[in-house]
Amino acid sequence: MAENSVNSGKAAFDKPKVELHVHLDGAIRVETILDVAKRRGITLCANTVPELTKLITVAKPGTLTEFLVKFSLYMPAIAGNREAIKRIAYEFVETKAKEGVIYIEARYSPHLMANSNVDPIQWNQEEGDVTPDDVVHLVNEGLKQGEKDFKIKARSILCCMRHMPKWSMEVVELCKKYRNDGVVGIDLAGDESLSHEACPLHCKAYEEAEKCGIHRTVHAGEVGLPSVVREAVEVLKAERIGHGYHTVEDQDLYKQLLEQNMHFETCPISSKLTGACDPDFTKHPIIRFMEDKANYSVSTDDPLIFHSTLGSDYQVLKDYMGFTEEEFMRLNINAAKSCFLPEKEKKDLLNQLYEAYGMINDTSF
Ligand SMILES: [Zn+2]
Repeated sequence: MAENSVNSGKAAFDKPKVELHVHLDGAIRVETILDVAKRRGITLCANTVPELTKLITVAKPGTLTEFLVKFSLYMPAIAGNREAIKRIAYEFVETKAKEGVIYIEARYSPHLMANSNVDPIQWNQEEGDVTPDDVVHLVNEGLKQGEKDFKIKARSILCCMRHMPKWSMEVVELCKKYRNDGVVGIDLAGDESLSHEACPLHCKAYEEAEKCGIHRTVHAGEVGLPSVVREAVEVLKAERIGHGYHTVEDQDLYKQLLEQNMHFETCPISSKLTGACDPDFTKHPIIRFMEDKANYSVSTDDPLIFHSTLGSDYQVLKDYMGFTEEEFMRLNINAAKSCFLPEKEKKDLLNQLYEAYGMINDTSF
């Protein structure tokens, strides 16, 4: 598979990168899952790294539903455990630093890692004392420690889940509470076939987010129709679209979003393995985004489950879609411009990229 090619020879893009779409709970190390499970006396479906990797990893294109089932194989080990939650956030920053990422936005549902104050409690856990609020606090601690040790910047986005509308108002409240402490935005994740129209609570949460100046992204047009993208933009007032590949099937909408400079968070390997796009990478909608000079970025989405790295995603773009060094730089600059940092920090991040890419000009002097 293409993702193996990253290990052979030079990286496709060896310069500083910005990653905007990666799920913290889809980016855990297999070693950590096994270690935590052992410490907690939790029995998983496998006891060794190769065995567990094989069970968790999606190796060939499947459905989004098959993919979502993978989380149930390992989340019982992590959820509800303070040490584990902090640890996965910390290790995540280390991994990203090694991949050459200088700014990362990690996303997760606080409810999916809690075992108290959450209804229903997920992953067949017993009730405990880790609330969604505690989860955010723990992730923040792990990210901050990671920032200090690995010298990159890490922020987070809190996810609402499409199938759990009753959590959404709590999610936006947590975004508000922690907006000056690491949380930069809100997301809506999960099964897109559950249209938000049936879920006024998601709408209400996004309305509140907009009112309070909380940045907004929405998973849309990944496997879903362009109409889900339109809803995300027009109803939920999304500033970025998670994936958005199927937008190109509605030319009017696509044109409109190009004009609006809407940001698409693309994840090439993910889109193949979840069955979101044609498995033939040479027919991928990202090629259209590139040709049209659209505003988009490249991310891993769930590297644990896709057995991928950010490097392997870049490799795919280079090997199958004709991406050049210039385009890699352009898409990272777009990622920085569309990130959810406050303006001043965004400017600093952009300057870091311009400098690393040899694009510093002296016009400011
Ligand atoms: Zn995602």
